[in-house]
Amino acid sequence: MSKHPDFLVIGGGIIGVSIARRLRAVFFGASVTVLEKERALGMHSSGRNSGVIHAGFYYSADSLKAQFTRQGNLSLTQFCEERGLALNRCGKLVVARSEADLPQLDELLRRAMANDVPLENITEEQAREIEPRVKTVQRALFSPSTATADPLAVLEAMRIEAEREGVKFALGTLFAGGGEGRFESAAGKATGGYVINAAGLHADSIARQYGFSEHYRIIPFKGLYLYGDETAGAFRTNIYPVPDLRNPFLGVHFTLTVDGHVKIGPTAIPAFWREQYGGLQNFDLVDCVETLTRELGLIAFAGFDFRRLAVEELQKYNRRHLVKLAGELATQVEASAYRKWGRPGIRAQLMDIRTRKLEMDFVLEGDAKSFHVLNAVSPGWTCAIPFAAHVCSRITGLLGG
Ligand SMILES: Cc1cc2nc3c(=O)[nH]c(=O)nc-3n(C[C@H](O)[C@H](O)[C@H](O)COP(=O)(O)OP(=O)(O)OC[C@H]3O[C@@H](n4cnc5c(N)ncnc54)[C@H](O)[C@@H]3O)c2cc1C
Repeated sequence: MSKHPDFLVIGGGIIGVSIARRLRAVFFGASVTVLEKERALGMHSSGRNSGVIHAGFYYSADSLKAQFTRQGNLSLTQFCEERGLALNRCGKLVVARSEADLPQLDELLRRAMANDVPLENITEEQAREIEPRVKTVQRALFSPSTATADPLAVLEAMRIEAEREGVKFALGTLFAGGGEGRFESAAGKATGGYVINAAGLHADSIARQYGFSEHYRIIPFKGLYLYGDETAGAFRTNIYPVPDLRNPFLGVHFTLTVDGHVKIGPTAIPAFWREQYGGLQNFDLVDCVETLTRELGLIAFAGFDFRRLAVEELQKYNRRHLVKLAGELATQVEASAYRKWGRPGIRAQLMDIRTRKLEMDFVLEGDAKSFHVLNAVSPGWTCAIPFAAHVCSRITGLLGG
């Protein structure tokens, strides 16, 4: 019999599955169960993201994001290669839309150097050799290690391996309440075991049941995608603008799918409830009232310019406006060629209610009974493998191991 507690992981996204696999490896013989409310994996962020394996040059060196992205890029790329999963090693250009963007390019170069991430400072001409349609002012950055993969295919491959390694999955099973070493789910009540909360959009409310996430609430931000009907190969690389490093979003950009098709997005539109993917789907009145109250509070008192962000983002529901913004990054981008909205994703963005600021980094809280993964926003998908190792070593420490 195992001398370790049983582990219950809430959430079968890439973070929950990666943590479950790592727990099985570290706590030999322990029982590890993933509880997932949906009947299939990948119904939320882990199956609805851009599929970009980020390089790791956006994040300040003291952050967890910086700590895990470079290694995550290597690990996820290797994971795809070893399993024969499709990978598009297309790299990424970061462009300047005006001279005012140039100091930000320098800041990204400094961060790349500090994080030991390859990033090339190139001229406008060199940028056009990489991507003939790119628009940039004076210079650009090229990231050779950025790649894209298929998020659903990656998650499915991880699920299969997790099952082979002995992780149990309880799909269609909602975690309904917990605290003090007990939990309730659609499958019944149980006690004992160590709980790991990787519930994405619902992680803050589950954490509060265990006495955590006291100062945090999730604000959902919706990411829309617009697919182009240009032929595969019409773009050779991902193209991003210089981001506003004061907020966690990267601005409207072009990304390539594994088969070389291009999409514009994702937006970062404040959503009115956590799972507001389309129409009244997954509508939850209590959640909606709370989310709207929080967002109105942000408009009045935010510690950053939420009103400007919200106004700019809400305009992106307009297809022509979104295409026009993308047209600042590349030539011959016509609204007539971008008509098909893709499957949107919603970011589980954490806000500190004391400062009314969006959290920029992953947030982890826990004790000897439970552990909570908060703010697993981008690049959480890229980081999942080394991030899971970090979570498990934190849990080992909390269990006195
Ligand atoms: C639009 C968008 C684009 C992105 N692009 C990228 C990118 O290109 N590259 C990158 O690295 N990252 C990207 N990200 C971030 C990345 O997708 C996330 O960091 C990652 O998927 C988080 O994984 P997760 O397992 O924490 O969350 P999820 O995938 O949301 O998984 C959480 C799971 O918990 C389940 N759950 C919730 N509550 C309960 C409950 N009570 N009981 C049981 N189960 C429950 C949910 O059903 C869900 O399956 C993007 C995110 C979005 C939204």
